[in-house]
Amino acid sequence: MKYFSTRGGRQKLSFEETVLTGLAPNGGLYIPETIPSLPSDWKTKWKAYSFVDISVAVLSLYISRDEISEVDLRMLVEKSYQTFRHPEITPLKKLSDKRYVLELFHGPTFAFKDVALQLLGNLFEFFLLRRNAQKAPGEKPEKLTVVGATSGDTGSAAIYGLRNKANVSIFILHPKGRVSPIQEAQMTTVTDANVHNISVAGTFDDCQDIVKSLFGDTNFNATHRLGAVNSINWARILAQTVYYFLSYFHIQAQLSPAEDVEIQYVVPTGNFGDILAGYYAKRMGLPMAKLVVATNANDILARFWNAGKYEKVDSAVDLTSDGKQGTSSSGVKETLSPAMDILVSSNFERLLWYLAYENAGTDEATRMTAACETLAGWMSTMKSDGRVEIPIAVLETARRDFLAERISDEQTLEIIQSHFEASPSYVVDPHTAVGLAAGQIVASRESGATHQIMLSTAHPAKFSEAVTLALRGQSTFNFERDVLPAEFVGLLDRKRNVIEVPQPDIDLVKAVIEGFAERDPSSETVVGL
Ligand SMILES: *Cc1c(COP(=O)(O)O)cnc(C)c1O
Repeated sequence: MKYFSTRGGRQKLSFEETVLTGLAPNGGLYIPETIPSLPSDWKTKWKAYSFVDISVAVLSLYISRDEISEVDLRMLVEKSYQTFRHPEITPLKKLSDKRYVLELFHGPTFAFKDVALQLLGNLFEFFLLRRNAQKAPGEKPEKLTVVGATSGDTGSAAIYGLRNKANVSIFILHPKGRVSPIQEAQMTTVTDANVHNISVAGTFDDCQDIVKSLFGDTNFNATHRLGAVNSINWARILAQTVYYFLSYFHIQAQLSPAEDVEIQYVVPTGNFGDILAGYYAKRMGLPMAKLVVATNANDILARFWNAGKYEKVDSAVDLTSDGKQGTSSSGVKETLSPAMDILVSSNFERLLWYLAYENAGTDEATRMTAACETLAGWMSTMKSDGRVEIPIAVLETARRDFLAERISDEQTLEIIQSHFEASPSYVVDPHTAVGLAAGQIVASRESGATHQIMLSTAHPAKFSEAVTLALRGQSTFNFERDVLPAEFVGLLDRKRNVIEVPQPDIDLVKAVIEGFAERDPSSETVVGL
């Protein structure tokens, strides 16, 4: 299997090159040349498979055997999910008749990003060790310097995915004092020598600007071989397809063999990575109803599906009247579900490519090139004008596979309350609540014959502010007793590993990275496993 950029070009990459490159040089995202179909006997053969078995089976369809042998792939997958606290990795929890929650938060940082980042770290290490083992004596070893900015969630999942990996060092910038105390502690209490937390006196946007400039600095980038772990990395999407299959079998197992279930997956969405994985599963042949895109007030995607407009700022609303919600300098609204506070969703570009492809005529010889050209045009118009006219035929193609709902902070709080009061009582985090609210709205409109699975993206203890706000009037609720996991107790008092940068200044950050490049233990070549 080879991969190419959504924005075109001749270049075809192997899986290894795709994973190590991340973003294509022309700004596009890598997608596979074809979407593979499931083997004809998948329903019977995969039925009793574990998470690891399904992962090996699905990943094998996208990775050539001569790139990673089956034995190595299984070893990498097993190692990645050993760090999870639940034997099923992503267990399914029944809420009521035909309503389920898929708990994706049993990894080391209690958030769904662990599912992909645990695997990504092991893939990086595997590829770099193999490359370095083939170098002649004295030849410079290949290393990766991962640099990222975080407002909380991604940073800790990336740090836990890359800690202690050979030939990889990771620098995560966070805005000092603007990350929740638990998330800051999760990141800064990791003491592995290859992990560096940089606390910048500034905002999240400042941190992100510094990271963007570092990637744009050709010299610096070439010297340090910068790598990104954001959700545009293809391996992250691929890893996330697995739980759609696993949960399908879980539900199918409860039905009589002749009955075929049609599941509706509801996905709280930010950068469109998690739900895009569901789209790939659907295209591969997993039976499912329309996927439900659940957004918070940052609703560019809900507006795309419902109003048929793709524009950064809602031209139909006077922004100044939206008084309750805070809006940052970049135009992003601050909500109770901060991991989904985005202006545009980076992975949406991948879906747009498939939509362009379906509407690019029937001539197989020119269709792919035409799709890349259309897509590149849309992306460049979006960049310059902040909006793009999407043809109605394309919208209709998008509506065939997806529905979308926008959920307010009020609805989010109400859902946390109603699920706490339900029997059995269940405490959910605000992101999961956005999905639950969207699921309810969709179910109330349709017949209710479909099984619904809401993807739960974080443990409620990670977002204590929203949870305690929602449940403050509940006399039987006690955050420490009912929600706080043992792993978080005492976390705030543990030793910290953090470098302070007193101003949002790129040169100060460069100096930190350069300083470590010279004395980092990971700069000693490691060969062999
Ligand atoms: C990242 C994240 C999301 C959004 O996932 P995308 O793949 O970006 O759509 C939702 N909830 C939580 C808790 C997250 O960390």
